[in-house]
Amino acid sequence: MLKIKSTQFISSNTSLAKCPQPTLPEFAFIGRSNVGKSSLINLLVGQKKLAKVSHTPGKTQAINHFLINDSWYLVDLPGFGYAKLSKKTKASISKMAQNYLLKRTSLVCVMMLVDIRRDPLESDLEIINFLGESGIPFALVYTKVDKVSKNQSHQQIGKMKKALSETWEEFPPMFLTSAFSRDGKDEVLDFIGKSLENLREK
Ligand code: GDP
Repeated sequence: MLKIKSTQFISSNTSLAKCPQPTLPEFAFIGRSNVGKSSLINLLVGQKKLAKVSHTPGKTQAINHFLINDSWYLVDLPGFGYAKLSKKTKASISKMAQNYLLKRTSLVCVMMLVDIRRDPLESDLEIINFLGESGIPFALVYTKVDKVSKNQSHQQIGKMKKALSETWEEFPPMFLTSAFSRDGKDEVLDFIGKSLENLREK
């Protein structure tokens, strides 16, 4: 089981060029604004305020690097698709995030967050398809599962699988999480831990 022993905020950048040297494996968290990304990151690292829980949706437009256990980076990518931003930046995923996702050589896996209460959104599917087509490994992390019953969450996953099966033969790993009930914390950390172990064995 992956234990978080240390966390350190390293940098907040508006372009890939300014990010830390890609010498350590990294896991990038992405999702619509307000999906619960900051809350989930804080749950995973066991800190209340490492990532800033935003009260203004869509505000963080930077790539934030956090060094974990002095050995890997947790990356908080800008939230996408929400009002209050200009139309240009609103359009799906930002150029900055796209550039990062396509070119970051040390990227191990993208953790794509999806609100369990929402049916698969066009914009979410767009990003999932973008990741798939670009050959970027990703996992689907459902958030706010405390808001729905077990039955409802199964239904939501079923809808996602149906939408994905139109394009994809295999499904990505999926996790059900809640920053409130702490559901899924161990599973996500375990997944990251195993991915890091696999890298070391290579
Ligand atoms: P971000 O914009 O994706 O970083 O989302 P935040 O972490 O700032 O959370 C957005 C809103 O959703 C806040 O009001 C949180 O309190 C709420 N929220 C986040 N995680 C959960 C969760 O697991 N369960 C519930 N019920 N609400 C959550």
